[in-house]
Amino acid sequence: MNPANAPSKPSAGPDVIVVGGGPGGYVAAIRAAQLGKKVVVVERAHLGGICANWGCIPTKALLHSAELFASLKKGAHLGIVADGLRFDFGAAIASSRKVAEGQKRGVGLLFKKNQIEHIDKTATLRREGGKLKLLVDGSELSAPHIILAVGAKPKTIPSLVPDGKNVLTYFEAMNLPSQPKSLLVVGAGAIGIEFAYFYNAIGTQVTVLEALPQILPVEDSEIAEQLRRELTKQGIRIHVGARFASCEPVGSEQKVRFTDANGQSQEVVVEKVLSAVGVTGNLDTVGAQSAGIKIDRGFLAVDEWYRLLDANGKPEPGFYAIGDCIGGPLLAHKASAEGIACVEKLAGVPDREIRRVDLSSMPGATFCRPEVGSMGLTEQKARAEGKQIKVGKFPFKASGKAQATGETEGLVKVVLDEQTGEILGAHILGGTASDMISALCIARSGELTATEVLHTVLPHPTYGEITKGAFEAAFGEAIDL
Ligand code: NAD
Repeated sequence: MNPANAPSKPSAGPDVIVVGGGPGGYVAAIRAAQLGKKVVVVERAHLGGICANWGCIPTKALLHSAELFASLKKGAHLGIVADGLRFDFGAAIASSRKVAEGQKRGVGLLFKKNQIEHIDKTATLRREGGKLKLLVDGSELSAPHIILAVGAKPKTIPSLVPDGKNVLTYFEAMNLPSQPKSLLVVGAGAIGIEFAYFYNAIGTQVTVLEALPQILPVEDSEIAEQLRRELTKQGIRIHVGARFASCEPVGSEQKVRFTDANGQSQEVVVEKVLSAVGVTGNLDTVGAQSAGIKIDRGFLAVDEWYRLLDANGKPEPGFYAIGDCIGGPLLAHKASAEGIACVEKLAGVPDREIRRVDLSSMPGATFCRPEVGSMGLTEQKARAEGKQIKVGKFPFKASGKAQATGETEGLVKVVLDEQTGEILGAHILGGTASDMISALCIARSGELTATEVLHTVLPHPTYGEITKGAFEAAFGEAIDL
């Protein structure tokens, strides 16, 4: 019998304790239960974590409202005349909160189904007599395996301290009592860009400041530059290479000073400011800083099997950490995948059967319009690593489907190994990029090369054909270009 499927020995205590009920923790808990373990989850705030309650899911609800609104506004040429169209901000927020509530309840139901106990409290780490312990309400809660999945929280810069009212983090930005007339976003990562898109699409005047030379700095430069142009066309004022200087209240507004890419000082007066300058590990709530464990640049240090490391870099027996709290990329799906791999290892699944996590091809997505979806090496990174590559690109505007839907902005770009045709990276701007990238993730994980893609017939007319067009273009064989 596979040891992973062996029933656990009857015992009073749990086999596995998971701290944190986000996409890392709740998925780890359910996988452990599937593998026959008795599981307890300690989650102090909300099942489903930031993703379900204050992140991925409610923002996707808001973005959907904004997209629909923007589409209807420009729908007249498609025969949709929406006279008197207006955006009801309160209703959109209420709907997104309802979606988040549903998600939270859903995780609770999954716990019931899998007989997972939820303790609605805060767990903290403490070292006593050299031994690391987990405490809840001052008493030790012990198990052979304790997984920390405590997530991340917004980072701040000293000159821009969120007050929750005028200077916001993403928490407040998705739950404001009324729509601001103007908003300045500091930071053009996924959070900054998604909120900039949302508020601009519903009529707020939006300015974005990004310190680096491109928006979405982790993305391929060509994709980021095309997105910058599209968002600028939509009305967002974007300053890249901008140095944020200060923010001070002027009456009910905020005066923001910054230095632009040309070294010129600029000033903008806005109603609200959103700080979206990144996130850091949520270590203080669990008392990680004083528990004698290794912390690496704000994140918990672990080994290849997610075993927590002590201050000397040695595995801490019985303790593990996964997800955002161990560092980037800080993505819900990465946290879930790590939770599964960690639990499979501790449950005794043979190494070759464990669903290991390949960070090099972890997909990413930014849900503005046009959307971004990507996986693997950017062209710039592949060249910097000295790889011999072939790059293929196909624009959406050359696709019949894109012409029909009017979604003609963007492109698919593939980065291939010149010799073998290995898919090193894929980058999509436009259409349903966040879904389209999945096919390329499967192709890469199945070790398919450009040859197999070229030998596959895809349905017409679809956005999927654009992906194949990019592979054809890499070999100078694109039909529709
Ligand atoms: P981020 O680290 O991705 O981006 C922060 C940006 O702020 C960077 O581009 C950085 O250069 C910029 N910045 C930092 N200091 C600045 C300053 N003083 N002035 C101007 N710009 C400055 O962080 P994020 O966007 O806050 O997102 C946090 C995490 O959550 C990321 O890891 C992100 O991938 C993840 N996330 C993902 C999604 C998604 O997948 N759609 C959505 C939301 C969040």
